[in-house]
Amino acid sequence: MQYVSTRGSAPALDFAGVTLAGLASDGGLYVPEKWPRLSPDEIAAMRGLPYAELAARIMQPFVGECLTPERLRELTDKAYGRFAHAAVTPLTQLDERQWLLELFHGPTLAFKDVALQMLGLLFEEFLAREDGSLTIVGATSGDTGSAAIDAVAGLDRVEIFMLHPKGRVSDVQRRQMTTVRAPNVHNIAIDGSFDDAQAMVKRIFADESVTAKHRIGAVNSINWARLMAQVVYYFAASLQLGGPEHKLAFSVPTGNFGDVFAGHVAARMGLPIERLIVATNTNDILHRALSNGDYSTGTVTPTSAPSMDIQVSSNFERLLFDVGGRDGAALAEQMRGFETSKAMQLTNAQRDGAAALFTSMRVDEDDMARAMRWACEECAEIVDPHTAIGLHAARNVQLPADVPVVTLATAHPAKFPDAVERATGSRPALPARVGDLFAREEAFIELPGTYEAVRGHILGHAA
Ligand SMILES: *Cc1c(COP(=O)(O)O)cnc(C)c1O
Repeated sequence: MQYVSTRGSAPALDFAGVTLAGLASDGGLYVPEKWPRLSPDEIAAMRGLPYAELAARIMQPFVGECLTPERLRELTDKAYGRFAHAAVTPLTQLDERQWLLELFHGPTLAFKDVALQMLGLLFEEFLAREDGSLTIVGATSGDTGSAAIDAVAGLDRVEIFMLHPKGRVSDVQRRQMTTVRAPNVHNIAIDGSFDDAQAMVKRIFADESVTAKHRIGAVNSINWARLMAQVVYYFAASLQLGGPEHKLAFSVPTGNFGDVFAGHVAARMGLPIERLIVATNTNDILHRALSNGDYSTGTVTPTSAPSMDIQVSSNFERLLFDVGGRDGAALAEQMRGFETSKAMQLTNAQRDGAAALFTSMRVDEDDMARAMRWACEECAEIVDPHTAIGLHAARNVQLPADVPVVTLATAHPAKFPDAVERATGSRPALPARVGDLFAREEAFIELPGTYEAVRGHILGHAA
């Protein structure tokens, strides 16, 4: 399997290459040259497999020759063995129609663990082969940071610099990053938003004064391997609820468009999906893009679903490429325009291609709180604010009545106890597996929101 850049001019790479590269050298994102297809019989034959086995089967065509099936299976066993639930991503029924896909049973309580536990192992595997090392530079709206730090803390060949927007992540999220004491972990709080942090990370990748000295790697969902790992749970849910004979809809609380793009990949591979619902909070660039073609950034408004407080959705570029004719040169031009003016119109091909599978909804704070109360009072389930945004959309988008709707439950409610308590009156307790989070000492440095400050810090501290 070879991967090509959405902007058409970076070299094609194999799976190991894209895993270590993160962003393509032309500023684009890597996508498979063509989608592997599974027939309905092949999908049906995977029913009842343990999650780690299902994961290895779904990932194998993307990994290609880079790992033997036996080695891949060892890695999925190890990655998913760290989850607190034997089903890894269990389904919970809410009513006759609505389901939750619980993606928060990993070490840091959000769905990011599903991909990052695997990515940490892949880094180690591929770096050992070439006796290399990697400096990861990442930006987090809260959950990627903790999941990535957990996945790489203590690794010999990997060092991580993680930027978070100061004061805009929850206490649990911050502490899950800043209380990990390992020599290869560096936490940085910057003055600014997640988008500011993400823009700096993209500049680091393109800055030769940095890349000449250090091999820079990515743990954000610009890294293809993350999306690949997320495709698996769409298959897992479908196989539980009548797939591939019956179609499902998925409602996905969305920020960087990574998780929901994995749903698009599942559909491209042949999984029957009725609709992918893109649920945004009031930072609604994706809702505007999908409903009327207007992809233009506004200012980021902090909400009680901070992991979705994003106005530039990196992975949307992958969708625009895939549904818009896979024309790298044209997309590079379009994206350059966007980077200058912070706005672009989707082409007709992009709009029609997206409309075939995606529906979107913008969910405000009141509707989010109502969804949390409904789940609590009618279904005895406490959901986190991000999940509640997905759930509100799941219950309000028009769909054929016989199609089950699965909302991706992206975080454990105890990650956002204040918002959950405000909406439902009850304060969720942290699961025992996170231990004495509030007793541990924190370590992070604060930097102004300028590129020079961040670049200088990384160059001064990278091994
Ligand atoms: C990261 C995150 C999201 C958004 O996921 P994307 O892949 O960026 O769209 C939603 N909910 C939670 C809890 C998250 O951590």
